[in-house]
Amino acid sequence: MSFVANFRCSDGCPGLYPLGEVLYHCPQCGGLLEVAHDLERLRARAATEWMRLFDARYLRTEWPYGSGVWGKKEWVQPHIDPPNVVSMMEGGTNLLWAERYGRELGIEDLWIKQCGISHTGSFKDLGMTVLISTVKQMIADGRPVRAVACASTGDTSAALAAYAAAAAICAIVILPRGKVSTAQLVQPLANGATVLAIDSDFDGCMKLVTRLAEEEGVYLANSMNSLRIEGQKTVAIEIVQQFDWEVPDWVIIPGGNLGNVSALGAGFLMLQELGITDRLPRICVAQAEAANPLYRAFVAGFKNFEPVVARPTLASAIQIGNPVSVRKAVRMLERCDGVVEQASEVELADAAARADRTGLFNCPHTGVALAALEKLRARGTIAPGERTVVVSTANGLKFTETKARYHEAALPAVREPHHPNQPIELPDRYASVRETVRRVLDEV
Ligand SMILES: *Cc1c(COP(=O)(O)O)cnc(C)c1O
Ligand SMILES: [Zn+2]
Repeated sequence: MSFVANFRCSDGCPGLYPLGEVLYHCPQCGGLLEVAHDLERLRARAATEWMRLFDARYLRTEWPYGSGVWGKKEWVQPHIDPPNVVSMMEGGTNLLWAERYGRELGIEDLWIKQCGISHTGSFKDLGMTVLISTVKQMIADGRPVRAVACASTGDTSAALAAYAAAAAICAIVILPRGKVSTAQLVQPLANGATVLAIDSDFDGCMKLVTRLAEEEGVYLANSMNSLRIEGQKTVAIEIVQQFDWEVPDWVIIPGGNLGNVSALGAGFLMLQELGITDRLPRICVAQAEAANPLYRAFVAGFKNFEPVVARPTLASAIQIGNPVSVRKAVRMLERCDGVVEQASEVELADAAARADRTGLFNCPHTGVALAALEKLRARGTIAPGERTVVVSTANGLKFTETKARYHEAALPAVREPHHPNQPIELPDRYASVRETVRRVLDEV
């Protein structure tokens, strides 16, 4: 059976365009594109058949279906020949029951989707595998692509560099100088990408790379490229699959450019449209107060949207004032009775550290989502028995400088951390070690 997918305008203009065409915006209105699947063909296979197929492939070795993304290939990008798939076994990440943290907050059914346990340490791998595979297919079909490029707050460039390197495609990444963590800078360098560090912020880097794509013919890998959304939407399918094909009540996700929440929503919608589920979860987008244009729009009833100048935040990957996918995100939130929350620097850092105390190891963006969770629970928006999933977007190990400085009380934005912990330095003498341990044991 062959399946069909095309680009179409996400704002409703008529017309379909092949996925192998270099096209980022609707030629008629300039709006974002989305990938339209031929749902009739997909419906020809029953929901139970899809579930059985996806379960049979999940984390197995038959190329390329063991990947969490390519296990859903027919729903994602059906037009790639398997030899042109560029996969690092992305997806298939842990969905863990945060029992102790949930108990502390008064939510028994709390789960963390650990998207940061992935090849380059963030969910960006889910989208990048689809984009780079499509480029590899384009090259195989005789359409030369000289290079792929992105502007990035860190994680996109790491994913782009890794997948491009695996496919032997030239990668160019444009980063705001001094605004990404050491790990995030080292990743594209190690993978051999050309790294341009610009004295600007993400929004400034975005302008530069857009022009490069228009004038120099490099292929643009930012999230206005809706191929990435197709890969990222598998996180929703995978969450439902991990709950034995049941929909959670709430999903909380940090948002910057808002591609990821659009993808999450698209995944839940597709599950419903193909008869696997019968409802949508409520979605909460969590933003840093320093970069909160969606939160402001939500508070004003989504009547209009004003970009902001994003201020620095520890959640550096979401320091975005003019999100490219805002219209898709708002449509999705309206559809699923969604909400938007915000977190200050103190709130996000303390929430991440508090959850770390229960055995997690959170990045600052996940901290924003956890702070939102704490607020929604405290306000009663999330009821104690509701099944809630927090999407953890990156691995905490990418952000050790921030985390170390939190515990040292050395972050200018968080002078009085609520959960600090420091090494106790002692001489090499058993008596001092024993005294210290006894003091600690007396306190527990
Ligand atoms: C990219 C990113 C986000 C934000 O995703 P958007 O699609 O830009 O909303 C959140 N957290 C991390 C760690 C990211 O890398
Ligand atoms: Zn259009």
